[in-house]
Amino acid sequence: MPKTITNQNLQLLIDTLLQAGTRVVGPKRADTMVLYAPLTTGEELDLTELPRRSAKETFFPLCEEILSYEKKDGKTCVTDVDLGKLPETVLIGARPCDSAAPGILDAVFSWDYNDEFYLERRKKTVIVGLACTRGDDACFCTAVGYAPDTKQGSDLFLTPVEGGGFVAEAVTDKGTTLLAKHAGLFQDQAAVSPLPLAQPQLATLDLARIKEWLDHNFESDFWKEIAVRCVGCGACAFICPACHCFDINDEGTEGKGCRRKHWDACGFAKFTNHASGHNPRDVQPQRYRNRIMHKFKYYDDKFGKTLCTGCGRCIRACPVGIDIAAIIEEIGKK
Ligand code: SF4
Ligand code: SF4
Repeated sequence: MPKTITNQNLQLLIDTLLQAGTRVVGPKRADTMVLYAPLTTGEELDLTELPRRSAKETFFPLCEEILSYEKKDGKTCVTDVDLGKLPETVLIGARPCDSAAPGILDAVFSWDYNDEFYLERRKKTVIVGLACTRGDDACFCTAVGYAPDTKQGSDLFLTPVEGGGFVAEAVTDKGTTLLAKHAGLFQDQAAVSPLPLAQPQLATLDLARIKEWLDHNFESDFWKEIAVRCVGCGACAFICPACHCFDINDEGTEGKGCRRKHWDACGFAKFTNHASGHNPRDVQPQRYRNRIMHKFKYYDDKFGKTLCTGCGRCIRACPVGIDIAAIIEEIGKK
């Protein structure tokens, strides 16, 4: 018999977790938009729309300190960040296009080097996914192998039902433990009717064919045609659940300061700028080509995965109307 949870009990679950000292991150209204953010009460959970930015900040903050240094008595003392102090976290209400992304990123963050900052947060986070019933005309998750009800990446999965509340299904041991620990908030209910799922605007894509074209068209006038409008703002990368480029900078004085890791974007003009002044990607179409190549060819070559969950965020955010779904659809027809 399926387990269900009411809206009130879901809020109570958040309050109970917060009282126990767990960090709870979920969709929260901030003025005119909803963003994934730390919640301070269950009442703040807002599941009415897809959060504007992705949930990747839960594991990979926009900016984080990785060490600090201080010069004392002629000696420089370096202090590492104590990763043991990172809080146990529950990411709640993650749409399938967000919950699937960490599973894609795990490959790169544990490939030639274990990024302990990312991996420690992954270890300490339980993901409560949410079936998507409110998509829009930018969504295309089904075209890249996911679905509005994909449980991939979720530890516990919620499906909204008619009349309010959710069916709750444990997907992993982490989800089973969370459910068992708060069993009193869940009910056994035989007759439930799930709400209709969202309908992505682009249902299917031939990813193998797209990759084959990319394999042979590094030099193509197509890149100029599609990317001449790109202003290199980087919004598409910052908002994306799968983009993961970062830079590391030292900030401070000779006496005191810290080293920070912060997001970067291949759309930025200086992303590949060399110290010599030479920039191998010196015009915007080359930078936009890298965005498409990285997502639909290079990541697949290296890790066997597509670096896109079809969330549509970059389509909604692009100030000049560049539509990645339309671009890869066009590539698939070449
Ligand atoms: S590339 Fe665009 S559609 Fe794909 S996951 Fe990133 S933001 Fe979403
Ligand atoms: S959001 Fe649009 S304009 Fe900005 S870097 Fe991405 S593709 Fe270019």
